[in-house]
Amino acid sequence: MKKISKLLIGTNNKGKYKEIKDLLPKYIKTYSTSEFKLKSPKENGQTFIENSVIKSKYFSKKTKLLCLADDSGLEIDILNKKPGIYSARWGGKEGDFNKAINKVYRELSKKDKNWKQKKVRARFICALSICFLDKKITSVLGRVDGYISIKPKGENGFGYDPIFIPKNRKKTFGEMSSLQKYKIDHRFVAFKKIKKFL
Ligand code: IMP
Repeated sequence: MKKISKLLIGTNNKGKYKEIKDLLPKYIKTYSTSEFKLKSPKENGQTFIENSVIKSKYFSKKTKLLCLADDSGLEIDILNKKPGIYSARWGGKEGDFNKAINKVYRELSKKDKNWKQKKVRARFICALSICFLDKKITSVLGRVDGYISIKPKGENGFGYDPIFIPKNRKKTFGEMSSLQKYKIDHRFVAFKKIKKFL
């Protein structure tokens, strides 16, 4: 199979853009959606995979470039897997991550006022899709399991990183260096699966 040389990274989220760029082989010339001044499409899929395909096709058609797009989020078991595909939307229009984190704590307290005494199981999910124009080339799913921290900790990363403790660890993603986090997170797991297409 011919190796690809050019790839658009289909995300308008700076945190995810940086992480995806760092995971790609260096011989690939990458482009960002901001270089093309592209807004994100409406994510009206029902699953992470569907939304990643919507984004990948949309950005590919706009730029005529092969596009890798992701859709990701946090699933919390006792909240019936919420925020799930609504993870970004819990931050409101401004994408305020503090607001999203506060909503998680509010919802957990509503569900079970003793949640802090329990281990609240959660996981990050990442769907990655590669599309060219309207054609889907591949989609994969990666996950990392863990727990919700009883308070936000750490200044690193983005999104829900300060409240997520991966399984068998003590620190939240927000307390880890980006290098530590990238080695174990949902995007890395998905990347390992999609590598053979790059
Ligand atoms: P998307 O841009 O629709 O995929 O939004 C994904 C949302 O899920 C982000 O805005 C974050 O709130 C959350 N999220 C996804 N991946 C991570 C991560 O690695 N750390 C923290 N939050 C994440």
